[in-house]
Amino acid sequence: MLCAHLLCFAVMFLLISKRLHGQKMGMDLFALGNFLLGSAYVLQLLEGGPAWSPMSVVNHTLTLASPVVYWLGAMRFFGHAVPLLSPLLVFAALYSLAQVLVQWSLGPVARYAMLSGGSALLFFVMALTVIYGARTFAKDLYGEMVFFAALISGICVLNALKFMKLLDGGLDALQMDRQFQLVFYIYMSFLATVLPPSIVWLVLRRLTDQLRHIAARDPMTQLLNRRGLTEALQLSFNQRRAEHAHLLVVDVDHFKRINDTYGHHAGDTVLCRVAEILQATARRGDLVSRLGGEEFAVICLHTDFPGAMHMAERLRAAIETQTIDIAEGGHPLQCTVTVGVSQGFADAHALEAALQQADAALYRGKAAGRNRVETAGPSMATASYA
Ligand code: GH3
Ligand code: MG
Ligand code: MG
Repeated sequence: MLCAHLLCFAVMFLLISKRLHGQKMGMDLFALGNFLLGSAYVLQLLEGGPAWSPMSVVNHTLTLASPVVYWLGAMRFFGHAVPLLSPLLVFAALYSLAQVLVQWSLGPVARYAMLSGGSALLFFVMALTVIYGARTFAKDLYGEMVFFAALISGICVLNALKFMKLLDGGLDALQMDRQFQLVFYIYMSFLATVLPPSIVWLVLRRLTDQLRHIAARDPMTQLLNRRGLTEALQLSFNQRRAEHAHLLVVDVDHFKRINDTYGHHAGDTVLCRVAEILQATARRGDLVSRLGGEEFAVICLHTDFPGAMHMAERLRAAIETQTIDIAEGGHPLQCTVTVGVSQGFADAHALEAALQQADAALYRGKAAGRNRVETAGPSMATASYA
């Protein structure tokens, strides 16, 4: 049953990895690890009891190679491009050689103890790797990773116990009718059933997170797009309750001229640089987005009207004073922006109205000569900077 589970899930991992073009998240290695372990158990069934034979050497090497491959898979899941073939072949050759030497010099008990001790050690490293991954890369998967580490620690403990039993009672400890062996294989079957769907779920979570990220971002500047802005604003209001926010619409002045004079590619470079400057100048927690074309939006959260005007002026001045390299060796370029500031609002549903107010202010700023900050309406302080 254990063999069937391991081999079936090996096929499933392989099929999933084939669908994941480019970034396989270690699924191909999890497939290989399952295949190696499943094959080792098949050999064990064919072999019968513990014996010294070439098949037994292959069996032990396959058994211990599987945690190595799982570990490499986990490293790939955490985004490290680790190689597979050379470490695996070197490991297989060295471990087969070690088996011959140990069997010859210390006898069969030592060879079996080496397998259990090695498995305990490798699964311990695996559990540590999972915890490390949870603390660094996969912070949002912390609960799942701790669950994984606990399950893997179980195999580690069982192998360590088997190691001690072998040293204590010799090969007798491996008799399948022993209670310990029964517990060992029941736990392995439990893991072979529980871990694969959990891994698939983790991969699904990462894929859906990536899709959500892609759907919320502008691919060129990596700023939030309109949809991402709306979602982030909703989240901010939900978390911080009804706090005041102001919307600033930032539009590059005479951008068409930049395109016409230097080309579309240079225009793209300018847009990316403007995006960087806006992001760097806005406060942490403010929402910076690209609405489309050469038009950006910055939402200043927790800000009163003078604060929003101050930020708008800071953004305008930051862009005016920066030079932008559009081509290697070419003349750096300078551009300006006009900023329209909306009235304060305290609800994500008011975003549309705020956009209209800021757009109207922007329009006035353009008409008044550009490179300036304009406010939403005559009812507000008629501050305008240039
Ligand atoms: P104003 O000062 O009144 O804002 O004038 P403007 O030239 O900046 O505005 P206009 O709306 O006339 O032109 C915007 C130009 O931006 C036209 C369009 O081809 C260009 N554009 C829109 N999206 C992109 C883009 O992604 N990359 C580049 N390079 N150009 C873009
Ligand atoms: Mg413009
Ligand atoms: Mg525009």
